[in-house]
Amino acid sequence: MQDKKNLLGCSQESLEVFFKDIGEPPFRAKQLLKWVHQKGELDFEMMTDFNKDLRSRLKDIAILKTPLVKNVLTSEEGTKKYLVELDSGSSIEMVRIPEKKRMTLCISSQAGCALQCTFCATGAQGFDQNLTSDEIIGQVWLANFYDKNEAPITNVVFMGMGEPLLNFNPVMESVDIMRNQIAYCLSRKRITISTSGIVPQINKLADMTDISLAISLHASENELRDIIVPINKKYPIKELLNSCKNYLSKQTGKRNITIEYILIDGINDSLKHAAGLSKVLASLSCKINLIPFNPFDGSDYKRSTDKNIYAFKNYLVNKGYITTCRITRGDAIDGACGQLVGNLKKTIKGKSLIQHTSIH
Ligand code: SAH
Ligand code: SF4
Repeated sequence: MQDKKNLLGCSQESLEVFFKDIGEPPFRAKQLLKWVHQKGELDFEMMTDFNKDLRSRLKDIAILKTPLVKNVLTSEEGTKKYLVELDSGSSIEMVRIPEKKRMTLCISSQAGCALQCTFCATGAQGFDQNLTSDEIIGQVWLANFYDKNEAPITNVVFMGMGEPLLNFNPVMESVDIMRNQIAYCLSRKRITISTSGIVPQINKLADMTDISLAISLHASENELRDIIVPINKKYPIKELLNSCKNYLSKQTGKRNITIEYILIDGINDSLKHAAGLSKVLASLSCKINLIPFNPFDGSDYKRSTDKNIYAFKNYLVNKGYITTCRITRGDAIDGACGQLVGNLKKTIKGKSLIQHTSIH
């Protein structure tokens, strides 16, 4: 028997094709999207505006299936980290981050990552697999409907595991569902793709969408960036920043790019580095987000000292850059990308799985 088609990650356009193929009118797509992504309903039998015959046909040929939440860790300040298992048995992470007026969800696009940035726990694990659009939008679904007592998600950032631009089509199909007014209805400013800088894909993205873009720069000279973000050898800084300018040139209204810069003690955090950064970004419309390195087992890097963090930030502010410093949320629950799965893999090799469901 042929596998049932999972409809969870289908955009309106793909659902219209699906319903056409089974002899149903296109408006069924909208009905299904509303049931699944507005009401959180995954049981065809409950979809009362589908007649009995359609409901039973859908049950025969299709499913609505999310990945599995295996563990939830809560930190004191309210950050919640979910360990999620895919069909294949691989694990990914997503993180819910409450802020003043927002509820941001940080999601994964791949299990593991092939790009091996030297400061990243996901990179250290290697690449497992690309996520399907079901598994990507499934994270947004789970964050909205699995935890019934939690506030709905207002912002989504692709800053979990993996390089979203190397899993382009599934990521874009899930973005389509996030933006659709009859699904999650998130505006372009509320969805951010973070990339280590896959230049051709940034240019492709520019022709397709206007969502927010964040670039993981982390160094302003190729020599250093080649080491800490090795994909730089293929797409060096100048080309990367040109692709950012191209991205902005296709946008309407005043927009800017977010530049992410991890501060690692003694590696990229001196005032000389700040000056270099200020210089390379001079002609790009951007804001800078500084992220103190979040240490993990097996890494020799250290978080910059508070003194260096403030000095670095002040330098950029004085040069006129809007600069924020993301105090890593949820350090206590292995906040940065890939760290929870990294620990899980180690414990599986060692002894028991993580047992607790929350720590305070
Ligand atoms: N692959 C994409 C998106 C996932 S990484 C990218 O690289 O942009 C998302 C963010 O987490 C990136 O800015 C990355 O640099 C940051 N990050 C990874 N490991 C970290 C660590 N140990 N401490 C702090 N930030 C980290
Ligand atoms: Fe991959 Fe991003 Fe981690 Fe680099 S920082 S290894 S691109 S997930």
